[in-house]
Amino acid sequence: MNADKRRRIFERLRAANPEPRSELAHRTPFELLVAVVLSAQATDKGVNKATERLFPIANTPAAMVKLGVEGLIPYISSIGLFNTKARNVVALSQILLDEHGGEVPRDREALEKLPGVGRKTANVVMNVAFGQPTIAVDTHIFRVANRTRLAPGDNPLEVEMRLVKFTPEEFRLHAHHWLILHGRYVCIARVPRCPQCIIADLCEYTAKTRALPGMPATQALPLKPSPASGTVRRRTRAG
Ligand code: SF4
Repeated sequence: MNADKRRRIFERLRAANPEPRSELAHRTPFELLVAVVLSAQATDKGVNKATERLFPIANTPAAMVKLGVEGLIPYISSIGLFNTKARNVVALSQILLDEHGGEVPRDREALEKLPGVGRKTANVVMNVAFGQPTIAVDTHIFRVANRTRLAPGDNPLEVEMRLVKFTPEEFRLHAHHWLILHGRYVCIARVPRCPQCIIADLCEYTAKTRALPGMPATQALPLKPSPASGTVRRRTRAG
């Protein structure tokens, strides 16, 4: 894909959603960190349901350590891998208290040393909580980058490196959200909604879907969920 197409794709995604936000409910970097750790192999909606009850009880490292693994489990037991996640959240809270003055660190190296925090989680926290132009590649972004040929790659790290390299600077801060939302609501895994896609003429996917009889092909799908979807979205202090 050439540079002009890439630019036009991001221009359209930006025009459709100028200020994209994380769909994980949070108000502070610590809440975001916990929510992202909990979100591995779980839906944002499921995590938001759990943290809606958890954060009024414990939304600081000190409160989380006080709550402890056994105390935390009942709040997150509806989420997959909750035992491991509970241990990680309490352990990382203890490290934040011991080594970072109770604050979430801003740099990748320190973030990736926390239990349950890998490259993707660190990228999300750096981007959403601290406004750094990182691009976390999840399953949605991996699919969109490969289908469109925006930044094809065999693994998430390869895709991330290409996205960072080829995304014009002015789009880098929000690229993660635009692509994730596009993958979640339009370029979906099983049957992409190409007839309603606002970048269909720029996308290089060779197996685009066609409009079904009766489907309004020209009506673009929203790039963000409607309020009726029940998703709680709050803003970070820093993001
Ligand atoms: S045209 Fe289809 S394959 Fe390409 S980005 Fe849009 S939904 Fe995805």
